[in-house]
Amino acid sequence: MKKDSGLPGEFELIARYFAPLARGFPGAYGLLDDAAVIAPAAGHELVAKTDAIVGGVHFLLDDPPDLIARKALRVNLSDLAAKGAVPRAYLLDIMLPKTLTRDWIEGFASGLAQDQDEYGVHLIGGDTDSTPGPVCIAIAAFGEVPIGRMLRRGRARAGDTVFVTGTIGDSALGIEVLRNALPDVGAVAATFLVERYRVPRPRVALGPRLVGLANASIDVSDGLVADLRHICEVSELAAVVEAPRLPLSVAARSVLVARPGHLATALTGGDDYEILFTAPPTAAGDLSRLSETLDVPITAIGRMQTPSSSTEDRVTVLDSNGQAMILRRSGWTHF
Ligand code: ADP
Ligand code: MG
Repeated sequence: MKKDSGLPGEFELIARYFAPLARGFPGAYGLLDDAAVIAPAAGHELVAKTDAIVGGVHFLLDDPPDLIARKALRVNLSDLAAKGAVPRAYLLDIMLPKTLTRDWIEGFASGLAQDQDEYGVHLIGGDTDSTPGPVCIAIAAFGEVPIGRMLRRGRARAGDTVFVTGTIGDSALGIEVLRNALPDVGAVAATFLVERYRVPRPRVALGPRLVGLANASIDVSDGLVADLRHICEVSELAAVVEAPRLPLSVAARSVLVARPGHLATALTGGDDYEILFTAPPTAAGDLSRLSETLDVPITAIGRMQTPSSSTEDRVTVLDSNGQAMILRRSGWTHF
């Protein structure tokens, strides 16, 4: 068959491209049964999460297929990490337009293979359909935590320090680069920012180590301010963030020197896939050791407190003068 011919049939697709990704997970039964079995380790329970990505909404239709696959998987792994779970397996539902090619699906499967190796997860099943619309990929991921220990949004305490991993804002600025909205940013910085948007780095190794240290945790996907607000709402608390403490990459800093207004983009842009968590100030020592061991920056950016009134915004961001910043949007919403 020609390399660039159209898609193979459904069963060939599964047997040829997906079944190899199920090797190494006995409960997947080689994708030859109707369903799969996941046996959690003794004393553990499963954490389940699904996230779909849609062509033209979450990625560009001409993005490389291996990167699309990795993003689809990684956004789910990021949620599991923020919940303190070790990822084990995932299901893949893929809706394919008939115009896609064999090369595309090959690239897609190779992206999954690469990340399976990196994160120790396996494909254990799914569904394959055709669609008259753009390609759509839904992954459901399963990880495990010690029973009762999943990190929750709602367990923050007044007096907790607010921490975030890695750097914030790279992805949102990467989108600005792709839109040609940052023409004066250097080539190295531009490439770095776009890469951060295209391929999230879920904090898979770190997340499970936060069990026992963090009180509340969420992954930053909608935007730092919006996601912190989620923690505040469910924990019935407020938070103050000091903008000058925000961890920024060298590339993001170079953008902000020329365009300080983009600090708001970093705070609200989203797609960071870092872990935002709260912990008592006494955890700071353990966290800095963990940060060093895993080589993942962990930065204190603010604190949790009792809300002073029921009408105030639950998240206050202070600028370098200690003044509350006015943010036009706090994060991404679909509707
Ligand atoms: P059903 O007829 O019940 O929908 P399918 O023929 O769709 O079953 O699926 C057959 C097997 O292939 C099942 O084990 C299913 O989990 C697996 N499978 C189908 N599509 C995918 C996919 N995109 N990724 C992984 N496994 C898949
Ligand atoms: Mg089916």
